[in-house]
Amino acid sequence: MDQTNASVPSDFIREIINEEISTGKLQGPVATRFPPEPNGYPHIGHAKSICLNFGIAAQYGGTCNLRLDDTDPLGESMEYVESIIRDVKWLGFDWQDRLYYASDYYERIYAYALELIRAGKAYVCDLSGDQMREYRGTLTEPGKESPYRNRGVAENLDLFQRMRAGEFQEGARTLRAKIDMASPNITLRDPIIYRIKRENHYRTGDRWCIYPMYDFAHCLSDYIEGITHSICTLEFENNRPLYDWFLNQLVAAPRPRQIEFARLNLSYTVMSKRKLLELVEKGIVTGWDDPQMPTLSGMRRRGYTPEAIRTFCERIGVSKNDSMIDMALLENCVRDDLNEKAPRVMAVLRPLKVVIDNYPEGKEEAFDCPYHPQKPEMGNRKVPFSGVLYVEQDDFQENPPKKFFRLSPGREVRLRYGYFITCVSCVKDPATGEVTEVHCTYDPETKSGFAPDGRKVNATIHWVSAVHAVPAVVRLYDRLFGVPDPLAGEADFMTHLNPKSLETLGECRLEPSLAAAAPGSRFQFERLGYFCVDSDAALGVPVFNRTVTLRDSWAKIAEKK
Ligand code: ATP
Ligand code: MG
Repeated sequence: MDQTNASVPSDFIREIINEEISTGKLQGPVATRFPPEPNGYPHIGHAKSICLNFGIAAQYGGTCNLRLDDTDPLGESMEYVESIIRDVKWLGFDWQDRLYYASDYYERIYAYALELIRAGKAYVCDLSGDQMREYRGTLTEPGKESPYRNRGVAENLDLFQRMRAGEFQEGARTLRAKIDMASPNITLRDPIIYRIKRENHYRTGDRWCIYPMYDFAHCLSDYIEGITHSICTLEFENNRPLYDWFLNQLVAAPRPRQIEFARLNLSYTVMSKRKLLELVEKGIVTGWDDPQMPTLSGMRRRGYTPEAIRTFCERIGVSKNDSMIDMALLENCVRDDLNEKAPRVMAVLRPLKVVIDNYPEGKEEAFDCPYHPQKPEMGNRKVPFSGVLYVEQDDFQENPPKKFFRLSPGREVRLRYGYFITCVSCVKDPATGEVTEVHCTYDPETKSGFAPDGRKVNATIHWVSAVHAVPAVVRLYDRLFGVPDPLAGEADFMTHLNPKSLETLGECRLEPSLAAAAPGSRFQFERLGYFCVDSDAALGVPVFNRTVTLRDSWAKIAEKK
């Protein structure tokens, strides 16, 4: 993929880089990185960061690394690494041979810690977690110095090496930076840089029982990779002085520069990996790639395209202000993209049988139908027609209201790509009163879709031929949460789950061209929406996921209110 895009809008980060280039501050090419922790599948918020980091690198002729920021053994795994690799690729970005792991830097990061100790800038502290909290102070009160703060270099070196050797229990000791317990920025009050954790790491196994803290590992990993701009989200703004402090103590210029931007928040969903994991573990969804999830793998299964997601990330822009983006904006990007790309076909989701009484018994025809009325280059397919069809249940009403122009006794409609038919009667289940069959006649002169005598119909409905139709299961997805911000307020976010976020229809009938549609392929079902073939083969029939409706039905609801 061409990662350069002349139409990329500018933003404050690009302005900073332009400024650095014009003043000569930036020597050499731009180097960025996307640094996910492999403790969950990437979500749409990560897509914003991916597009930003890879986009900037491409725009300035630089490079962007993919770095697995795996410094916390808890919760990290190869499954997550694989999902990250797959999804960044799928989004259309290429890190070439620059796939890195922070865990590959453990030895070097440890050496930097020794250097800090030798410089008298770090000490081994024996305070417990509780004590440390007590000593830390508050936003309005300075902290207190640890009684271990003035240990000598030799003792610190000895203790730290023994921490590594596994001589102490988890929590018994930490290595801390010696900065300033009275700093107004709590981050600088002698932060922990190493802690003992007797956990197996998915890559380094039991080689280590001490692990560096994020703040220490991240800036050094950036430095090791020659990163020029370390772009991260706003919650790290307070950590920037610490980022700079470590680098200023330990390495020579040019040093990476941290720049923070506002994270993406999207309405009607949650984004934190911890919360997404909770949805998975509690069985609310079928997995990280459930089509209801805001993960990239979920969106892929749902039928979203990488192009639509990239367009979305471009449209929302990059700023310093936290905000909530409306899910409708993302859905519109998906619609706009699929409108151009998705072949249009016919499928009936809730079938009602239509018998055409005057169609010759046993006769069949095949209509030549374009896949996209405005795009002849997408080609045509044959759609079989016969005397028994299925149409949507709600395209028939026995006693219709005034403005109902679809099938009802006496009413004539057009079949998409086919004849005019006129409804004559309906058959009902004597027990339930439910309409089970509709009888019609057709006008053989209207095959072109128009009547020679010029008479008009007010509705065109889609259909499939009953004997030719392919049975299928269709899953109608809606928003996962019923409220725009599930995290607002006191109640647990789970209480806001939308009970109607998934409706499964088991009796659907598709036109036969869809019988062999490959998993991942996307279609517009005429009049119904966009749908994508699921990878789930367990049901023995094709399964389609609704990607998005044809129009924004939530906007309509809001209008009505
Ligand atoms: P979460 O809060 O979802 O667990 P995280 O920030 O802990 O996310 P990381 O794996 O550390 O997840 O994130 C990798 C990169 O993606 C970081 O640079 C982070 O700032 C960025 N990122 C994460 N969530 C978002 C978001 N919602 N919008 C923009 N960027 C994000
Ligand atoms: Mg994180």
